[in-house]
Amino acid sequence: MDIHGKFVHHLGFRLIAGRDGLPGVQPFLRQLEESQYWAPAKLLEYQYRKIKALLLHACRNTSFYRERFDSIGFNPEKFGALSELEKIPPLTRNDILEHMDSMVAANLLPNQLHRDATGGSSGIHTPFYRDNGCLGFKKAVEYRCNKWAGWDIGDKIAYYWPAVQDLAKTVPLGSRVKNELAYRALMLYSGRLDEATLELHRRRLGEFAPGLMRVFPNPLSILAGYLRQAGKQPIGIPSIISVGEPLLESHRQIFRDVFGSRVFNCYVSRECGNMACECGAEENLLHINSEMVYVEFEQIAGRDPRGPKSLLITDLFNYGMPFIRYRISDLAWPAEEACKCGRTLPLLRMDGGRLSDFLISPVDGSLISGCSFLHHLIAEGPEVGQVQVVQDQVDHLRINLVKSMGFSESKINHFHQTINKIFKGAMTYDIQYVERLDNEKSGKYMFTKCLVNGKR
Ligand SMILES: [Zn+2]
Repeated sequence: MDIHGKFVHHLGFRLIAGRDGLPGVQPFLRQLEESQYWAPAKLLEYQYRKIKALLLHACRNTSFYRERFDSIGFNPEKFGALSELEKIPPLTRNDILEHMDSMVAANLLPNQLHRDATGGSSGIHTPFYRDNGCLGFKKAVEYRCNKWAGWDIGDKIAYYWPAVQDLAKTVPLGSRVKNELAYRALMLYSGRLDEATLELHRRRLGEFAPGLMRVFPNPLSILAGYLRQAGKQPIGIPSIISVGEPLLESHRQIFRDVFGSRVFNCYVSRECGNMACECGAEENLLHINSEMVYVEFEQIAGRDPRGPKSLLITDLFNYGMPFIRYRISDLAWPAEEACKCGRTLPLLRMDGGRLSDFLISPVDGSLISGCSFLHHLIAEGPEVGQVQVVQDQVDHLRINLVKSMGFSESKINHFHQTINKIFKGAMTYDIQYVERLDNEKSGKYMFTKCLVNGKR
């Protein structure tokens, strides 16, 4: 680590992170580095205590959970074992859409909460709240995953990110300078890629020389393909953590070939943060961040019992709007074996999950990230239901929409503005209302699909 990094590691990070509403990250990180080796019984005892406290809080401070517990005769005061959690019905997205106001903890002030929404990587808008008090711990969990990939506070990190809120042009100059000086972070917006942008990214990454990148794998594979095709000098990136989209074997291969990277798959959701991550011992073996989330594997009715299970997530730290047995709509298998790395955190293997294609701009051929497009279309607009976008002609999108319960035509005006803005008025579209969205023949679900010839 260079002198700048040492300053950030020992002092700079603490000064800035505390002011940014992320207090205690380093002490939490030290605790997490110890707890990752706890004996399983100690971890289960910890989870039991955290869940009991969460259940009591939810019952006392939210009418939603109080009524839900009453309706099944569940008394959190008498919660005696983790297995008793199964008595509580899973929390669905519809529960959140219908009852969000009564799920928000009444004992917290509005300035202790912030609102967010899913959309970009799921095709469905689910609004939710999080209390600011959990952010320091959640950041420490993210940093522990980074440490598994060889990074430490003070080392340079780059983000290849299609999330709109991180678009460089909208980030004030002060934040950009702070990112680069105090967090040693370079944010590169990967939501819209053309040759000039790819060349700019190549240059900036080469100059910055990060030790670690956190990336959405689809956009980074476009950059890797560009570097390979153009015969550009390779950029060495020691480690890459893939988030937000399923990591395919082809992604791992091209990242190894073009950047010489070790590649780590990380399971992250907007609602709950970094829930599980590979440690590098084996591909598709992810340690669950069990100090932050309690994960259950639910058998899906009518499916092969050997197949992947539906994940139910209990977030041990979000007291703003408790997620208790949240059916997050992701699939995985529990892995019973011990990991070679010696960490005792439980393991899972992800099912491939939800995929997205880039869309192609009819104006100039630039590639629009499916996650980024859906973030604009879904997360920033009113809740309408689940969406799949198919580009079936160069200048036409077909939007398949499963209406939600509170749907009204007026809510989809936002689609018109968004599509015109992103495609500069050159894209037509129609909306088809469907009963459900089907998986591909491969079994995977595509939330954006590009059927236009000539796509990369
Ligand atoms: Zn491991």
